[in-house]
Amino acid sequence: MSVPHINLTCNRCDASWSPLQLNKRRVYLDGSVEVPLHSTLGWCEECAALRPVEHFEDAAWTQQEIDAIQAELQSLSDTRVKRFALRLLPGKRATVDWLARQISSLQRRLALIAERRGDEACLVCGSRQLQSFNGDYSLEMDDTFSYVGSKPTGFLHPGCGGEFIATGSDVRFILSRTTYCYDLEGRLIDERR
Ligand SMILES: [Zn+2]
Ligand SMILES: [Zn+2]
Repeated sequence: MSVPHINLTCNRCDASWSPLQLNKRRVYLDGSVEVPLHSTLGWCEECAALRPVEHFEDAAWTQQEIDAIQAELQSLSDTRVKRFALRLLPGKRATVDWLARQISSLQRRLALIAERRGDEACLVCGSRQLQSFNGDYSLEMDDTFSYVGSKPTGFLHPGCGGEFIATGSDVRFILSRTTYCYDLEGRLIDERR
């Protein structure tokens, strides 16, 4: 799948980065369990660059997901007939096992949010010296699904003072299939292709 993208370019020094860095597939590894990792754009002092940084603001949404899956699990075994079918039908059994693993993975995410919120790391170098990117880089899409136009984001380039300008690009990128694996402290530990 190819995706359109946006450039964020400083109007004073021409430094430029793309929020497309957020689209890589990233997970935490907790033993053999993959825990969802969410990222947002931030300014990393160590990299001196706009980087994907950990995002821990989804506790309420994660809890809702857990509740929804638990309700689905419940409905798969809420009668004797359904419990009987679960024993006989391997496909149904596999669905139940898969849902249970999703719950376990989301519960680990909730625990991680409780423990690490306020301690977000740069997902490139692991530094905690971050500034949140509070600019707005949303642009319109045209009918070829490319971003068009340009607008000031309101976010100033730290140490430079120029402002990042969002500009649509018609260059499309193919997303790699690599999964970037992190430990529970937000350090990159493996790249799986
Ligand atoms: Zn600049
Ligand atoms: Zn960094």
